[in-house]
Amino acid sequence: MLTLSSDCAQTVYHLAVAREAINIEAIGSVRSLVARFADCTPMRRDRALSKVVEADVSLKLESLQPTGSFKIRGAAAKIAGLDDEARRRGVITASTGNHGRAVAHVARDLGVPATVCLSDNVPDGKIGLLAELGCTLDIGGESQDAAFDRAIAASEEPGGPTLVHSILDPVVLCGQGTCGMEIAEQAPETTLVIVPVSGGGLIAGISVAIKALLPQARIVGVSMDRGAVMHASLEAGHPVQLPEVSDTLADSLQGGIGLDNETSFPIVEELVEEIVLVTEEEIALGMRHALRELRMVLEGAGAVGIAALLAGRISARGGAIAVVCSGANAELRTIAEMAALEALE
Ligand SMILES: *Cc1c(COP(=O)(O)O)cnc(C)c1O
Repeated sequence: MLTLSSDCAQTVYHLAVAREAINIEAIGSVRSLVARFADCTPMRRDRALSKVVEADVSLKLESLQPTGSFKIRGAAAKIAGLDDEARRRGVITASTGNHGRAVAHVARDLGVPATVCLSDNVPDGKIGLLAELGCTLDIGGESQDAAFDRAIAASEEPGGPTLVHSILDPVVLCGQGTCGMEIAEQAPETTLVIVPVSGGGLIAGISVAIKALLPQARIVGVSMDRGAVMHASLEAGHPVQLPEVSDTLADSLQGGIGLDNETSFPIVEELVEEIVLVTEEEIALGMRHALRELRMVLEGAGAVGIAALLAGRISARGGAIAVVCSGANAELRTIAEMAALEALE
C-alpha cells in the first residue's frame, strides 16, 4: 500500500514489504502480461566492443521495444494487471519521458484513461509526443517533484486513479525484471550484466531475476557522472537528494530515487556490485559506437553501458558480458549530430 505523509517538506512514500514483493516468482507471474505489450528483445553480439574489452559482449536491445524503451515492461505488468474497477478509474503518473510514454501507450491499448503530470518546464517536443498517445496532460508547477506530488494527491482521492510509479511500485519492478529473465535464458553463460541506472527500477528488477537464475553473475550499474543520485545514496548508506542537472545526453537518467525508497534502493544495495559513472563525452562515444558498428540508434541513457566498457571503467576480461541498451528515444537532432561526427572521421 502506498501512503503519503505530507507533513514534512519532502513527500515520503511508504511501500510496506515492497522489498519482499519483488522475487523471481512474482517476476515470472507478470511475464504473460508483459508479453502482451513488450517484445522479447534480441541479444546481439558486438564484435568490435568484444575486441576492445577482450570479452564476449552482447547487447540486450531494449531500444527496439514499442515506445523505444524497456519502460513498456513495467507499465504493462501494472496496468494490464488491474481489475475492471481499477481500469475504469484510470491510471496516473508523472514522467516527462519514457515512463510516461509507456504508461500512455499501454493504457490507450487497454482503453484505460491515463493522466500524465508534467511541470511547466517540459519542452513542447516531449509534450507533443505524449499528447499524440491520447493521454490527459496535467501541466503546471516549477519542478517535476511538484508534478509528482499532484499525481500522488490525485491517486489518494476516493475513487481516484491508480498511481503507476516507475521505481517505487513492486509490480512495475517485477515487469522490468522480465528483461533479466530473458537475459538468463538467451545467454546463460553470462558472467556480468551491465545496466543503466537512474532511480534503479530497471537494475533492481534485473538483479533479482539474474541472482535467482544465474547466481554466479555479477551486476554492475552505470550512471552519468552528474546528478548520480543512486550512486551518492549508496555512498551515504541511505537515499539522498541531489540538484537536478539539465542538458545531458542521458536525460532519461535524470531524477531522484525518493528519500524513503524501500524498493529499488535496498535491492541495489544488496545485489549490485558497484555503480560506475561516465562523462558526457564517454556517453557520446557510446552512442557513436552503436551508430558506427551496429548502425543502431541508442539514446544517451541507452548507451551508458557501452560507454563504460569503451572507457575502461569496468574490467571483465575473458567474461561473457550482457549490456542492457535501455532505450532509443534520442532527439533527431542529437542523432544527426552523432552520425555527422562519425561520417566526418
Ligand atoms: C528510465 C530509463 C532508465 C533508468 O531506469 P531506472 O529504473 O530509473 O533506473 C534508463 N534508460 C532509459 C532509456 C530509461 O528510459
